[in-house]
Amino acid sequence: MTRIDGHTYLIGLMAYPIRHSMSPTMHNTAFEALNLNFVYLAFDVPEEKLKDGVAAIRTLEMRGSNVSMPNKQAIIPYLDKLDISAELNQAVNTVVNDHGILTGYTTDGVGFVTDLKKKGHEVAGKKMVLIGAGGAGTPIATQSALDGLSEIRIFNRHDGRFGHAQETVDIINQKTNCQASLTDLADQGALQEALAWADIFCDATGVGMKPLEDQSLVTDPTWFKKDLVVYDTVYAPRETKLMTIAKNAGVAHVYNGLGMMIEQGAAAFRLWTGQNMPIDLVQTAIEQKDQQ
Ligand code: NAD
Repeated sequence: MTRIDGHTYLIGLMAYPIRHSMSPTMHNTAFEALNLNFVYLAFDVPEEKLKDGVAAIRTLEMRGSNVSMPNKQAIIPYLDKLDISAELNQAVNTVVNDHGILTGYTTDGVGFVTDLKKKGHEVAGKKMVLIGAGGAGTPIATQSALDGLSEIRIFNRHDGRFGHAQETVDIINQKTNCQASLTDLADQGALQEALAWADIFCDATGVGMKPLEDQSLVTDPTWFKKDLVVYDTVYAPRETKLMTIAKNAGVAHVYNGLGMMIEQGAAAFRLWTGQNMPIDLVQTAIEQKDQQ
């Protein structure tokens, strides 16, 4: 930490609760490795303190901030501009301060698409099935659509997110060339048929993570064809029940969400610093921290 001096720029993370986050480890490891004069700190900022938090970005001339729940939508009125990634989601996870102009971005979708690309799978021209349209699912859908996905079938259970899922489908159909539809997850026949049709299947629900770690939204291995790309946004545990079932069914390309998590950070890092995050180093630092 000897690199911190009078010229160091602060980057924050404003959410509540947030002290468990891996983002400070991720970004500070990268700043140190590249000898960049930034420091990244997490701040407990509940929604009622968000206005002051954003004012601090301006007053302290911070380079920017990440935001997470409960602030992803609530921050929008306090910003000056929204990038298309944030506009299509009506949610922000990254703020960049360019000489007093605050722009909101969502980098989760870029994280997903970039991780898939690095693993050898382009979304352009492909067909996707996505379960879940919340904080993770929505940017996955919109960014994949912006990046040339040809068709997406979103499945959501009939809960409070269903209406939001329909809005996402409408936005994709209006603003991109991707064809989107929404189906109730209760229609299991439609899900089975869609998995036989799709190139990529993404579960963005959190099923498979505590306290649902022994559950999977697809339990019949015959629903998986061997050349389907299966992606679970969960990364703790590293292998979810869904992933185990898919692997046992002979699916070759089965991934957890760790790469997406790191790549969404790398995309924010690029926006703040103009540099590429040293991914391997960051991944090692996260794994070491995990074991502590
Ligand atoms: P959210 O609460 O905003 O949305 C959850 C979505 O899943 C909703 O559409 C909801 O209807 C659906 N859902 C929830 N429980 C369900 C169940 N039991 N059965 C069927 N559908 C269900 O949550 P989120 O922020 O989108 O997070 C979802 C998952 O994605 C979590 O596991 C989270 O850890 C993970 N995530 C990963 C990354 C990453 O970078 N890898 C980023 C964000 C979130």
